[in-house]
Amino acid sequence: MSRIASVLLPMPLPEAFDYAEPEGMGLQVGDHVAAPLGPRLIRGVVTAIREAAGGNRPLKPIDHRLDDPPLPPGALEFVQWAARYSVDAPGAALAIATRGARAPKARPDRVLELTGAQPGRMTPARTKVLEAAAAGPMPPADLARAAGVSSGVVKGLVDEGALVLRVIEAESRFDSPDLDHPSHDLNPSQAAAAKALADMVREQAFNVALLDGVTGSGKTEVYLEAVHAALAADPDAQVLVLLPEIALTQAVLARFEERFGAKPAEWHSDVAPPMRRKVWEAAVQGGARVVVGARSALFLPFRKLALIVVDEEHDGSYKQDEGFIYQARDLAVARGKIEGASVILASATPSLESLRNAETGRYRWLKLTSRHGTARLPDITLVDMRETPPERDRWLSPPLVKAMGETFAAGEQSLLFLNRRGYAPLVLCKACGEKLTSPDTDSWLVEHRYSGRLVCHLTGFSMPKPEKCPHCGAKDSLTSIGPGVERVEEEARSLFPEARVAVFSSDTAWDAREAKRLVEAMAEGYIDILVATQAAAKGHNFPKLTLVGVVDADLGLRGGDLRAAERTYQLLAQATGRAGRKDHPGRAMLQTYAPEHAVMQALKAQDRDAFVEAEMAEREIMKLPPFGRLGAIVVSGPDLQALEAFTRTMAQAAPNAEGVEVYGPADAPLALIRGRRRKRFLIRADRNVDLSAYLATWRARIKPPGAIRVSIDVDPYSFL
Ligand code: ADP
Repeated sequence: MSRIASVLLPMPLPEAFDYAEPEGMGLQVGDHVAAPLGPRLIRGVVTAIREAAGGNRPLKPIDHRLDDPPLPPGALEFVQWAARYSVDAPGAALAIATRGARAPKARPDRVLELTGAQPGRMTPARTKVLEAAAAGPMPPADLARAAGVSSGVVKGLVDEGALVLRVIEAESRFDSPDLDHPSHDLNPSQAAAAKALADMVREQAFNVALLDGVTGSGKTEVYLEAVHAALAADPDAQVLVLLPEIALTQAVLARFEERFGAKPAEWHSDVAPPMRRKVWEAAVQGGARVVVGARSALFLPFRKLALIVVDEEHDGSYKQDEGFIYQARDLAVARGKIEGASVILASATPSLESLRNAETGRYRWLKLTSRHGTARLPDITLVDMRETPPERDRWLSPPLVKAMGETFAAGEQSLLFLNRRGYAPLVLCKACGEKLTSPDTDSWLVEHRYSGRLVCHLTGFSMPKPEKCPHCGAKDSLTSIGPGVERVEEEARSLFPEARVAVFSSDTAWDAREAKRLVEAMAEGYIDILVATQAAAKGHNFPKLTLVGVVDADLGLRGGDLRAAERTYQLLAQATGRAGRKDHPGRAMLQTYAPEHAVMQALKAQDRDAFVEAEMAEREIMKLPPFGRLGAIVVSGPDLQALEAFTRTMAQAAPNAEGVEVYGPADAPLALIRGRRRKRFLIRADRNVDLSAYLATWRARIKPPGAIRVSIDVDPYSFL
């Protein structure tokens, strides 16, 4: 009897395709195969196998099986679950899950080693080579260098049989964590939380805990004990730790190494392809017991996942809002459920969603209310910018400048926080009033002084800063409006010429290595004033940092989207939480034009509960998350008329359902990007509505014409 295999291809197709299984191939679900699609062979994964019923049209056969390790059932189920939830193609999720399999393998090491045979003729150069080779196998070029001879001498010894070339395949294993490695002594509240988490992990079943602890309370120390419990409970168990920023991975990797004497596997966009391949294989085969990574690590096909930690769980970077759209924190909980694993969400400022789940008892709630040791939380003051404004074209107010002076004089560090890259967010012509925007896009060009360019942060477009206004041709008329981190750096340098000032943003810490270098320089005291975007507001420990100045505390509140207040609160609480560690008390100053705003008052009083309560009450009245669900559909196309016509048809096709309201179509706030016009629908649904199913039904009823793109975002974080 012949069989049919359904094969999911890693591309945005609505479903798996059926192929005939060639005689004797013995396929199993999860196998990787090469299957024909049109004239090409595409690699895909078998998702189901069934006996062929006679009489059907013959199917194309699978070409061959690939020898990559099969995807475990949990990984495959997760891919399909995620696609259904995100109302996207399962192949798009599969593409993320098999990215590591498509990366090239590391080339095998070629090393020379001694055979023990003596060459026919000895020379001083040959003696040196044999002596150097006694240190152990090494690549031919290294051996020649170590002996200080030419490669010809080494080759001669190979020809005569005194050395032999051995090829070592790269192994897909990472060092095993040492579970007997000494750990820190935990303080009583840490010990209590660690025990509760370890007990939860030992149940070896799906459970979620919210580890809710103020900055510096030792959340990392505590979840490391849960990791220990998971690894100790089962010799095959694997652990995944998700982090929001590449900049943080280095610090967390170091903490792991300190705790377990071995570095975990690392997964993020900066990891080179052969290493990615190795991590992927080690995840499937069990050669990596711990993986630390960015959001896409959640799609790795773990063989036996026992625990997922989502550190800084509130962080907006867990939301991927391009391509395959997903929120890694939410999907982590889903993955935990599929794998029967524990999930720990850790944060000093948990998302309202997670707090709500903790309040209602769906998640276990573990709190750490004080900093470890003698460290105290910083004092927070609001600087009213209406009363004590900075000088013209300056951004730092007199009270903040005074505090910076005191801090510098005491040999301590300041962090100035401004969530804006570049020098100035806007360039304007004094002569004609024109604001310079990105071509075919509703977005201002941001001036970057280091690179001398104007950059569109939305599309990546950039150009040298022109000498004349491109609009009216006036010379030297372009002025920079408002501050970015580079401009604040300039101001700090002019105020404190002796201070060592640095900028931390994705322009200066562009990869994991640079970020690590800057974080270390700050931690070791080589920087006096660090001007930073949100990249530095998270997780880092800087022992000599005692002053945090927030340049524009109102910035995030202007966004006007659902989470504006929540995000501002989280960001500022995290930023101010950087100040003061160990025995240095810290202080934080927030420059604001709205000191009476509830967010500012809650920050000043360090009263998170008051903020959360007020914000929850508002969301409850509006039936917005976490009390309801939201979805967004952005429809875009090059031609406005065609777009309007299509969105009108789309509105008519919206299914009627109890507890669902559809708003729109309306112009998206960014109504034009790269020449494409954009319209948006917002969908609000009650909690008990399956919003994904609703959106999938709607999507199935419409047929966008060629040039129009429809992008569905379940639980949107960006409202642009
Ligand atoms: P959080 O993740 O809550 O911000 P961390 O786990 O990073 O806190 O801890 C903050 C700092 O305090 C770190 O430098 C950490 O090494 C130190 N620390 C926390 N708990 C302990 C402990 N029990 N013993 C020694 N050092 C600790």
